[in-house]
Amino acid sequence: MIETKDKPELTGSEINGEECIITIDKVNKWYGDFHVLKDVDLEVFAGEKIVVCGPSGSGKSTLIRCINHLEKHQKGSINVMGHELTNDIKDISVIRQEVGMCFQSFNLFPHLSILDNLTLAPIWVRKMSKKDAEKIAWKYLKRVNIAEHAHKFPAQLSGGQQQRAAIARSLCMQPKIMLFDEPTSALDPEMVNEVLDVMVSLAEEGMTMIVVTHEMGFARRVADHVIFMDEGRIVERQVPEKFFKNPENERTIEFLKQIH
Ligand code: ADP
Ligand code: MG
Repeated sequence: MIETKDKPELTGSEINGEECIITIDKVNKWYGDFHVLKDVDLEVFAGEKIVVCGPSGSGKSTLIRCINHLEKHQKGSINVMGHELTNDIKDISVIRQEVGMCFQSFNLFPHLSILDNLTLAPIWVRKMSKKDAEKIAWKYLKRVNIAEHAHKFPAQLSGGQQQRAAIARSLCMQPKIMLFDEPTSALDPEMVNEVLDVMVSLAEEGMTMIVVTHEMGFARRVADHVIFMDEGRIVERQVPEKFFKNPENERTIEFLKQIH
C-alpha cells in the first residue's frame, strides 16, 4: 500500500465529486519518426472500466504501456493516482505496485512454479515475508480457480490456466488499477470464457480496469465506456449501448462491421 502522504491530492483531479485516478492530457509519442500517439486525452475515474478497441497498429498497446511507464511519452502529461509520469520519475515503483498489467502472452517466469511466480514481487518489491506472500498467493490462486496447480510450472498449464495465474500474480500486488492487453487473444476459443469470467468478477468488485480487447460481449457487459482508436488517436468514446448501436465515427462503423 502506498503511504498516505503519497495518496493523490484530490484537488484538481476531482470532477463532479468523482476521483479521477488516471488523467491523460494531450499525450504524444513517437517511435523514432513514427508518430504513434497523437493528442490522446483520457480520464479514468476510480472504479471505471474502459474497453479499448481499434485496428491492429492503432496504438492501443502503446497507450496502455504508457500508463505504467513501460513506454515513455514525449509530449503531454500522464498522471496516475497523483503521480506525474515524467522521464525522471522517482516513484515508478509506486506506479508499478498500484497498476497491475496482464499481457496477451501471460509472461509468467517459466522456471518458477505458479506459487513462486505469485510470491516473487510481493517478497522482493513489497518486502513481504514469504509466509505472508504465500497466504495472499493462495487467496488469489483460489480466487481464479487454479489452486490445485500451485506447484506446477507454467508450461504444465493450459493457456487459460496460465492467463488466470498471470491475473492472480498481478492481484497479489493488490493494485488499484488493472491494465489488460488483449488477454484472451492468444487463447484457444474454449479457454476465453474462463479468463473473461475472472475479469468480469474483478470488474464487479469495483476494480478500475482498462482492457484492450475485441471481445465485444465483455465490452457490452462490463465497460462503462468503450474507446475506439485509429492511427494513434482516440476517435470515439461512448457508453457501450451507443457505441454498438449508434457509433458516430466512420472508422468505428467500418470496424464494427468487420468484427461482427
Ligand atoms: P496496437 O496495440 O493497436 O496493435 P501498438 O501500440 O502495438 O498498436 O503499435 C502501434 C504502432 O507502433 C504500430 O505501427 C507498431 O508497429 C509501432 N510500434 C509498436 N512498438 C514499437 C516499437 N517498440 N518500436 C517501433 N515501432 C513500434
Ligand atoms: Mg496491441
